[in-house]
Amino acid sequence: MSCHAAKVLMDLSLDRTFDYRIPEELIDRIHPGVKVNVPFGRGNKTRIGCVSAIMEVPEETAEKLKYIAEVLEERPAIPEKLLKLGDWISSYYCCTREQSLRNLLPGAVRNGKVRARTEPRYYLNDPVAAADYIAKATTRTKPRAEILKQLSFRGGQSADNLVAASGSCKSALTALVTLGLVKKENVQVLRDPFKGAKVQQSKPMTPTPDQAAALEKIFQMADHPDGQQHVLLLHGITCSGKTEVYLQAIAHILESGGDAIVLVPEISLTPQTVMRFRSRFGDQVSVLHSALTDGERYDEWMKVYNGKVRIAVGARSALFAPFRNLRLIIVDEEHENSYKQSEAPRYNARDVAVIRGKMENALVILGSATPSLESWNNALNGKYAIAKMYSRSDPAIQLPSVQVIDMRMEKTDDEKTPLFSKILQEAVRERIRHGEQTILFLNKRGFARQMMCEVCGYVASCPDCSIPYTYHRKMQTLTCHLCGAMLPAPEVCPECQAPQIRYSGAGTERIEHQAYALFPDARIARMDSDTMTNPGMYEEVLSKFRRGETDILIGTQMIAKGLDFPNVTLVGILNADMGLYLPDFRAQERVFQLLAQVAGRAGRGFAGGEVMIQTFSPFNPAIIHATGHDYLSFAEEEMEIRKELLYPPFTRLFALHFEGDDSAEVLRVSQELVTRLQEQCPEMEIMDPMPAPVERIKGKYRFMSVAKGENPSTFRKLLRQEVMNWRQNNRDVVFYADIDALNLL
Ligand code: ADP
Ligand code: ZN
Repeated sequence: MSCHAAKVLMDLSLDRTFDYRIPEELIDRIHPGVKVNVPFGRGNKTRIGCVSAIMEVPEETAEKLKYIAEVLEERPAIPEKLLKLGDWISSYYCCTREQSLRNLLPGAVRNGKVRARTEPRYYLNDPVAAADYIAKATTRTKPRAEILKQLSFRGGQSADNLVAASGSCKSALTALVTLGLVKKENVQVLRDPFKGAKVQQSKPMTPTPDQAAALEKIFQMADHPDGQQHVLLLHGITCSGKTEVYLQAIAHILESGGDAIVLVPEISLTPQTVMRFRSRFGDQVSVLHSALTDGERYDEWMKVYNGKVRIAVGARSALFAPFRNLRLIIVDEEHENSYKQSEAPRYNARDVAVIRGKMENALVILGSATPSLESWNNALNGKYAIAKMYSRSDPAIQLPSVQVIDMRMEKTDDEKTPLFSKILQEAVRERIRHGEQTILFLNKRGFARQMMCEVCGYVASCPDCSIPYTYHRKMQTLTCHLCGAMLPAPEVCPECQAPQIRYSGAGTERIEHQAYALFPDARIARMDSDTMTNPGMYEEVLSKFRRGETDILIGTQMIAKGLDFPNVTLVGILNADMGLYLPDFRAQERVFQLLAQVAGRAGRGFAGGEVMIQTFSPFNPAIIHATGHDYLSFAEEEMEIRKELLYPPFTRLFALHFEGDDSAEVLRVSQELVTRLQEQCPEMEIMDPMPAPVERIKGKYRFMSVAKGENPSTFRKLLRQEVMNWRQNNRDVVFYADIDALNLL
């Protein structure tokens, strides 16, 4: 005979659930998502947990289990549809169901420690008695009478409000409570992440022709959720008015009683962004972001759960807002890498949004000026609908002029190339003379040093994989991390025999150093992950810059925001090549997106400004097309290459990671597993494991195997099985799979 048991998830350890037996009388009330109280540890201690799965176990197993003590909530804490989404995530992303379930609920809701907040409010106990007391008031009792008046006019209030409005003091209120004229009650109040900030109401704008066409498609799709397509790619250049389209799409959904989720990348989730939604929809908007306190997060989540709000705006995790009638999901800047979570479950919120939309019959809008090639391909082959907005909402807004500077022409007499070209130096000096501001931008994502010839611009790349070799200093070799090819690092350029070989890798710190030397009178600030050690510093540097107390701001991606400041008239991109030759097939795409973002920036502030791009590869397609604001040509050329080399979007890509203390052991067990997969899945191209481009992190040796193929479903199932088995056999080597991996370093 078999018995019923449940897996219960607690906040004790990251990946473990605990098994409990379900008492007969509770069998109908326990389902995944329900909160329960279970005995835990010695004595009669109990803990709150969340049921993650129900199973049947043999009698002899059940006998060893403790019973679930009680059910805390009748309703499942996670709506049924979200649980299904959790199942999908766990099978698609090859992680455990516990990991994916955990992801559906914010910690503050899951652990049961945070509760609704209550505050005392005061009410009249008996209006007649109060009126009588007021009528008979003497000089001595006047303060009390004033409080009673307030309460009769305006109803229940907090002590602070009463004291302020009546001009009496707190002791008068206490006395009234003692006399039985006023009663005190605890009511639930919501914590306010907006701290009561006032919002100015905004009205819908009259759509431009582009916007009108996009909206027509959106309404059509929203009103016929059973149609062929449920995803729309909104390809709109910067300032084409995508946000206004989102706002009007949401308004349409609200009218028909639906709920909406808006995802934006964490870095764009600024007060200004949130305000655009709040000023149109007021208190119907809930905001979910990482800076909320546990209490605020709890309240925001409960507001969604209880149907108190209709719109959730947030970063990645807002995708799991527990709406019951979800009709629209918007993913802004859909190409952003930050939608991919770097810990398990390693999901991409954009892709899961498409799945959630499908499951709940909701329309999904993916918006971007530079769509990912995955989404672009889906639009080309008709899987997604597309709306194009290629003109600016306000024709008066000008694009900056973009100039490409060929760094090969900048060599000094001793055959070295300076960090600053002469023309950029001169441009910066002119800005300082006129009291205008400059941003210097270094695309410093790369740590991998690659070999480049300063004379002819040649970059040593693997002929089989179209990615550059990584230079390993210790061994003096060039290695391709995709196919494993290895060759000795050359002393002269293999193309032109020049000895001016350069291993690029200048960081922002060196740029700052140079800037001080070149522009001794300038006030300079640097902003990157080394200098920004806490979130406050980021705001501080930006505010100083905004106030004009800094002439030159140097930084990485982080500073793209500064471009909205009116006094910035020059942006210098110091080394556009740096990201181009990262050992990653998406390197070109990322550089294009980044440069297009900078070059396409034409907010009020940067109108008529100047962008200078320094490069050793002035004819690189990513640079040329970004300069010309030409996404279509870039996408066309890049797609050809992807197709040729069988990279996504034409295949699915998996990265298998192995990490451990003992390099030989990591290699051995990874080879064992990879060989097994290679034998079982001949339809997939599965590389042998090899050292990851970053070979060691925190003392752990890292090996990696990349797999790709057009039909990965069998492979995916086997891979998931391997991940599960691995966890049971508690080994010294960590193994995890990254599905649709974006980071290959
Ligand atoms: P995007 O998100 O595509 O970069 P935004 O939605 O931020 O563009 O719009 C850019 C600017 O154009 C904003 O200041 C916005 O208020 C304005 N705008 C958008 N749509 C219209 C419209 N239909 N009429 C007038 N101004 C508009
Ligand atoms: Zn190779």
